[in-house]
Amino acid sequence: MEQRLTKQLDAHNVGLFTGAPLQGIEMGGDSRLDVLAGDRRLPADLVLVALGVEPNSEVAAGAGLDLGPDRTLAVNEHLQTSDPDIFAAGDCADAFHVVTGKRAWIPLALRANRAGKIAGANAVGANLAVPPVAGTAVFRLFDLEVARSGLSVVEASAAGFDPVSAVIHAPTRAHSFPGAGKMSVELVADSGSGRLLGGQIVAEEGAAHRIDTVAAALGASMSAQDFAGLDLAYAPPFGPTWDPLLVAGTQLVKRLATSA
Ligand SMILES: Cc1cc2nc3c(=O)[nH]c(=O)nc-3n(C[C@H](O)[C@H](O)[C@H](O)COP(=O)(O)OP(=O)(O)OC[C@H]3O[C@@H](n4cnc5c(N)ncnc54)[C@H](O)[C@@H]3O)c2cc1C
Repeated sequence: MEQRLTKQLDAHNVGLFTGAPLQGIEMGGDSRLDVLAGDRRLPADLVLVALGVEPNSEVAAGAGLDLGPDRTLAVNEHLQTSDPDIFAAGDCADAFHVVTGKRAWIPLALRANRAGKIAGANAVGANLAVPPVAGTAVFRLFDLEVARSGLSVVEASAAGFDPVSAVIHAPTRAHSFPGAGKMSVELVADSGSGRLLGGQIVAEEGAAHRIDTVAAALGASMSAQDFAGLDLAYAPPFGPTWDPLLVAGTQLVKRLATSA
């Protein structure tokens, strides 16, 4: 999966330097900038610094409210902080993960919006509960769609599962339909229970909304076996008769059988 992304960057002349922490930005020659990273000095006309976000929870912590993972404001399913009269929602607050059931910090738009609506309603007397999050996310990398939901193998191991995974590559359209790309799917399941834990998809087309099937399956605590048996749509412009998700699901069931 990762190789497809690095190849895509390479094909568009984007250099990727992993394991090279940013050490500084200096004025170089000709009014250009030099970015110092690891043992490299990279000349640049313009530098965009994208270092991620972090919850601004200082005031809340100072007021004695409990903090969650990554210094988020810890909230219950009604979006109440440790002071039940104070609500928190959005990127600053934590959530419960649909697979692990544990507190997680996943700063994404839908869950922030949904939590905001529910916190607002509860603050004026409603008693609504926010559903757990799966961390479903999608982005575009030049011509590729990249999507994920639930846990990766590494995250599943860290959460105490015994994960097995299956990776498949399939055409994005039926063989009779021109213009197909390649869809790579990785599905992860727990070898003990057979439960589906997560999935990732990379493809020229069809990844973005296919990941929602994985998200729905995670929300229903579906097993890999049940996932492989889903009745998914087929027509030549949209995929092969056996949807790539079903091919991956079938392979995952086989992996589970051999790992038992
Ligand atoms: C470049 C970018 C792209 C993104 N793309 C996606 C995407 O494709 N999909 C996705 O799911 N998520 C995406 N996100 C994440 C998504 O935008 C956030 O998860 C979401 O906006 C969080 O909503 P929020 O209400 O918690 O915070 P915000 O949207 O950050 O809103 C917080 C608001 O509070 C205001 N504020 C801050 N401090 C104070 C103060 N002291 N007093 C008054 N007001 C204050 C701010 O000005 C801001 O308007 C992206 C984020 C970025 C930065």
